[in-house]
Amino acid sequence: IRLEDNYNVAVIGGGPAGYVAAIRAAQLGAKVAIVEKGVFGGTCLNVGCIPSKAYLKNVEIVEHIKHAASRGIIIENPEIKFDMEKVVEFKNGVVKKLTTGVEALLKSHGVDIYRGFGKINKNKDVVIDDKQIIKADKIILAGGSKVFMIDIPGIKNDKVLTSDDLLGLKEVPETMVVLGGGVIGAEMGLSFAGLGSKVIIVEMMDHIVSMFDDDITDELTRLIKKKGIEIVTSAKVTEVVDKGDKLEIKIEGRESVFADKALLAIGRVPDLESLGEVKFETERGRIKVDKYMETSVKGIYAPGDINGIKMLAHVAFRMGEVAAENAVKGNHRSVKLLSAPSVVYTLPEVAMVGLTEAQAREKYGDDIRIGRFNFSANGRALASSEAEGFVKVIADNRYGEVLGVHIIGPTAAELITQASLIMEMEITVDEVVNTIYGHPTYSEAIFEAFADVLDEAVHIP
Ligand code: FAD
Repeated sequence: IRLEDNYNVAVIGGGPAGYVAAIRAAQLGAKVAIVEKGVFGGTCLNVGCIPSKAYLKNVEIVEHIKHAASRGIIIENPEIKFDMEKVVEFKNGVVKKLTTGVEALLKSHGVDIYRGFGKINKNKDVVIDDKQIIKADKIILAGGSKVFMIDIPGIKNDKVLTSDDLLGLKEVPETMVVLGGGVIGAEMGLSFAGLGSKVIIVEMMDHIVSMFDDDITDELTRLIKKKGIEIVTSAKVTEVVDKGDKLEIKIEGRESVFADKALLAIGRVPDLESLGEVKFETERGRIKVDKYMETSVKGIYAPGDINGIKMLAHVAFRMGEVAAENAVKGNHRSVKLLSAPSVVYTLPEVAMVGLTEAQAREKYGDDIRIGRFNFSANGRALASSEAEGFVKVIADNRYGEVLGVHIIGPTAAELITQASLIMEMEITVDEVVNTIYGHPTYSEAIFEAFADVLDEAVHIP
C-alpha cells in the first residue's frame, strides 16, 4: 500500500454532502482530499434528483400539449410518441454537464481527487482500494445511501427494478407496479405513467406520501388517480411471483396485481461500507451523529444520507457544509432543519415545511389557526391552465407564529422557499400579510392563505 499524502480533511464520497464538505473545507484554507468510487454528484446528480426531473419535464410538456386545444392552440396530427433512446440521451447529457461541473469545482478549489473505494482502517487512515493510503486530521464520511432491499420471497428478479435501473430504461413497460408510495414511488410512478405505462402504486400505509399533511395527500391521490394511475393503499406485499410474461404481486388479504415490471421503492438505507475497521455507534442501520455532525468517534463526521436523519439533497448540502466548518474550525455550527422543505415532484408538485395539521394539533391542541387558498381562484394559475391544488397555512393562535405551510399546485417546489424563509426568519402571519405581493403570481395563493388565517382574505367568498 502506497502512502500518498497528509491532509487536514479527507472526505469519503462525492455526493451532495461530500463534495460540498470538501469545497467548504478548502474555502476555509484546509488541505483537502476527496475519495469517490463512482461518479461525482452521487445519487442526486446521477440517479436521483436531476435525472428524475428531466423525465418529469417530458411528462409536463406532453400535458401542456394535450391541454393546448382547450386554449385554442391547434396542433395538427397530434400523435405523441417517445423516442426512449433520445429521452435517456438527453437526461444523460444533463447529468454529464452537472457531474463534470462538480469535478471541475473540486479541482478549482484545490481539492485532491482520489478514485476508488475508500474505507477507514484501525489507525483512522483512509485506505483506497487497498492500494493507497491517505492520512488526515479529520475525516468526513459521506457515503450516502442505497436502495432498501426488502426481504420478500421472489423480490430478487430481473423484472423488479430500482429507481437506478428505471432511469436508464430504453423501453417503457406496458404495465408497471410500484412497490411503495413514498416520494420516489410517487414521482417515478407519475413519470412512467406519463411515458405510457399503466401504473399501479401499492402502498402499505393508508395514504401515499404519508409524511405529508392528510389534506394534501388526499388531493394528490385524487389528482394522480385522474391521470389513470391506480393506487392501492393499506396493502402489504407478501410475495413476488414470476409468471413468465408477467409478475404477480401477492398482497395480504387481497387480490394480486400483475405487471410487466415492478419498481422497488420501499425506501433507502445508509451505505455504511466506508466505515471500515473503526467502531462507530449506529442505530437501526444509521451512523449516529450529534448536532455538529460528529460521530461517536472524535474527529470523524458523517453528513448526508449516511446518518439517515432526513434523506434529501438540500439537507445533505447543509450537513456537508456544517461538518466541514466544524472539522476545520472546531465544533461550533449546528444543523437546524426547521426550514428544510420536503417536496414531491409530481404534477402538480407538492411541498411542505414545518408541521402537518395532525402534528400541530398534537403539540398545540386546538390553539392553532388554519388558512387555505385554492389555486382555482388564482388568476395566474387560471391563465396558465394550472389551477389545481391549494395552499394551507397552519399558525399558532396566540402569536401568529407560522407552524407549517403546505402546498399542492403549480411550482409548489419553488413557492415553498418563501415559507422556509418565513419560518427561518420567524416572520409572523400579520407580517406576511403586510407584504405586497406581485400580481398576478402563483405566490399570491400563499399571501391569500396567510390572509385567510386572519379571516382577511379578500378573494375567498
Ligand atoms: P449520495 O448522493 O448517495 O452520495 C454518496 C457518494 O459517495 C456516491 O457518489 C458514492 O459513490 C460515494 N461512496 C459511497 N461509499 C463510498 C466509498 N466507500 N468510497 C468512495 N466513495 C463512496 N433529494 C432531494 O432533495 N430532491 C429530490 O428531488 C430528490 N430526488 C430523488 C430521486 C431519486 C430517484 C432518488 C433515489 C433520490 C432522490 N433524492 C432527492 C435524494 C438525494 O438524492 C439524496 O438525499 C442525496 O443524494 C444524498 O446525498 P449524499 O451526499 O448524502 O449521498
